[in-house]
Amino acid sequence: MDVPFVNLGLQYQFLRNQILSKFDEISKKGEYILGSELDEFEQEFANFCGTKFAIGVGSCSDALSFSMIALGIGKGHEVIIPGNSFIATAWTVVNIGAIPVFVDVLDDYNIDPQMIKKAITKKTKAIIPVHLTGRMTDMDQIIQIANENNLYVIEDAAQAVGASLNKKKSGSFGITGCFSLHPLKNLHVQGDGGVITTNDETIYCFLKKLRNHGLKNRDECEFWGYNSRLDNIQAAIARIKLQYIDEWNSRFIQIANIYSEELQQVSLVPKDDSKKVSIYHRYVIQHFSRDGLKNYLEKNNIETRINYPVPLHLQPAAKNLGYKPGDLPKVEAQSKLILSLPIYAEMTDDQIYYVIKKIKLFKK
Ligand SMILES: *Cc1c(COP(=O)(O)O)cnc(C)c1O
Repeated sequence: MDVPFVNLGLQYQFLRNQILSKFDEISKKGEYILGSELDEFEQEFANFCGTKFAIGVGSCSDALSFSMIALGIGKGHEVIIPGNSFIATAWTVVNIGAIPVFVDVLDDYNIDPQMIKKAITKKTKAIIPVHLTGRMTDMDQIIQIANENNLYVIEDAAQAVGASLNKKKSGSFGITGCFSLHPLKNLHVQGDGGVITTNDETIYCFLKKLRNHGLKNRDECEFWGYNSRLDNIQAAIARIKLQYIDEWNSRFIQIANIYSEELQQVSLVPKDDSKKVSIYHRYVIQHFSRDGLKNYLEKNNIETRINYPVPLHLQPAAKNLGYKPGDLPKVEAQSKLILSLPIYAEMTDDQIYYVIKKIKLFKK
């Protein structure tokens, strides 16, 4: 038995006919950039998230950068982010000229609201909660802190398409929500892609120009912008897949439930309260002998990953920000114990139970 960490080819096989006929249709028209498929996708994605607007961009990294630019965040400002995330949550803050302020997390790997309060200064402009592994951050608390301190909330929902809290979807809480369509995310295209959601019409109009060179129309440039649009072909692919995302997410949840039921005796498994729907983009356990377990599983043809082994504040790139080991104890402790198990909608029950069997058999 072989259990790869993901298997993108299976989803393609399932959708191949639909994707190829769309590819053909669009290619015959030559409608590659800012076409009708993108318009349709933006409408459908906004509906899916329960927001007024969605804007397709080149990546979630650009979604994050553009959100901050739209809010006037830049030099001299601080942005509060969790210490455990993919590096894009941090470098985009640096890239727009602001300073990332790293904050410790809770047991669910998401940012700790109490620690946010301690990190707020006169320079703080925004909080970027990350719904890591597809589990919602407690947005009620975050929004309250933000309101009390006059801060913006930008959701990094890259891993959380379809996740919800009190029936409200990720991406609909903050001033903007940022999504990734990278091939490793639950809803993905065949390359890079991203989406920004918002209910704010002014921000929406600004972002539509920002992603397209700052152009107001074909000839007039209102401000200097970027070239970062979701390709029309990718938008068409995203539209096809959006029809299946609830079904796929249900399978992620089902697999997570089986894992949790079976592995709670031998590892620390994720637990959520009933007001949250977690879509388990990653299924993460904690194990006291993580590295040994990882090697053992690899020998048994089970591929696992660590999300993430090096906390953001301890990355070599963060050196000049002045953090040291011990600053974010929880993130640092978790980084030594966490292990992401294979999870994808096409995984078979045999594969799931093979992973479970091997983890149970592992002896340190
Ligand atoms: C993947 C990811 C990003 C970056 O997404 P791209 O589309 O690759 O730019 C940002 N934040 C988080 C939490 C991610 O998982």
